[in-house]
Amino acid sequence: MKDRLIDFISTNFNTRVDIIENADMKDYTSFRIGGPCDVALFPHDRESFCTVLGYLNDNSVKHIVIGNGSNVLFADEGYRGVVVFTTKMKSFSFNGDILECDAGTQLTAVSVRAVKDGYDGYAFACGIPGSIGGAVYMNAGAYEGQIADVLLYSDYYDPESGEIKRLYAKDHKFDYRYSSYMDNDRIIIGAAFKLTKAEDPEAVVSLMEDHIRARKEKQPLEFPSAGSTFKRYPGFFTAKLIDEAGLKGYSVGGAQVSEKHAGFIINRGGATAEDVLTLIQTIKDKIYENEGIHIECEVRYIV
Ligand SMILES: Cc1cc2nc3c(=O)[nH]c(=O)nc-3n(C[C@H](O)[C@H](O)[C@H](O)COP(=O)(O)OP(=O)(O)OC[C@H]3O[C@@H](n4cnc5c(N)ncnc54)[C@H](O)[C@@H]3O)c2cc1C
Repeated sequence: MKDRLIDFISTNFNTRVDIIENADMKDYTSFRIGGPCDVALFPHDRESFCTVLGYLNDNSVKHIVIGNGSNVLFADEGYRGVVVFTTKMKSFSFNGDILECDAGTQLTAVSVRAVKDGYDGYAFACGIPGSIGGAVYMNAGAYEGQIADVLLYSDYYDPESGEIKRLYAKDHKFDYRYSSYMDNDRIIIGAAFKLTKAEDPEAVVSLMEDHIRARKEKQPLEFPSAGSTFKRYPGFFTAKLIDEAGLKGYSVGGAQVSEKHAGFIINRGGATAEDVLTLIQTIKDKIYENEGIHIECEVRYIV
């Protein structure tokens, strides 16, 4: 599989898709955890991205698309297949009242730019360390804002037909940390967002600065993590439940419930995926014992 794939890419794209064999997923994810994949691919543009996806589908090669790797935990054994990263596909443009982005564009980069250019609705996103594709997929959000509030449409590669199609915002079935992309194999190649001029641009800049400051104060940004490990359970703050369960600072191997923010599991050095999974299970069991509720992971485990 590997040799044929690499031949295909070298013949068709040469410099437009970077190839790394046996890439360690710990080097490409914010958790700094995970063993090697067979091949990591980094397409530079939408055309090479879609052709690569077509090849992988037509040849039934196991694969997954990853953006910034800031919401995933790869297994210690790694991934037997191809990991396609969107991070080199990152052009974006501000056109009138529309912001168009490739899937690999950094959410923070475009949102900071939108805020500084005087647009409303993007302060929430400054500091979320994901790509546009990952953010649409997860309906990323913070501080009362979410992707669903600003998205116009996303363009996706449809593996069933091999075509590129458009999905308008209302058809994403957005919910809290949910989009319809979670229920199918479609791959986001780009997205467009609305641009509305802020009535008070300075207030928006200052709101963004408040959010960035709050992240630094409250989140353990000095350690590798994948952000909040669990989703909010309706009516509860998960971090508070974990704290009340006495699990703040609790660790398994190199994985620890952050002492700064109990909603984060951090990698204090040398954590394995197994450590994180054991810690997650311990937390879930304890919360169930205390509150009778099953909390769900926000972080996606990839095997
Ligand atoms: C310090 C820290 C703080 C964070 N704060 C927040 C926060 O405030 N709010 C929040 O919502 N999240 C937060 N996160 C989590 C994370 O940044 C977001 O979920 C982000 O949207 C994930 O984007 P990504 O590109 O890193 O996705 P990845 O981790 O690369 O992927 C996540 C999922 O999306 C899928 N995916 C990625 N790209 C595509 C694509 N192009 N097409 C189809 N599927 C795709 C992947 O297969 C995977 O299942 C935080 C994470 C960290 C480390």
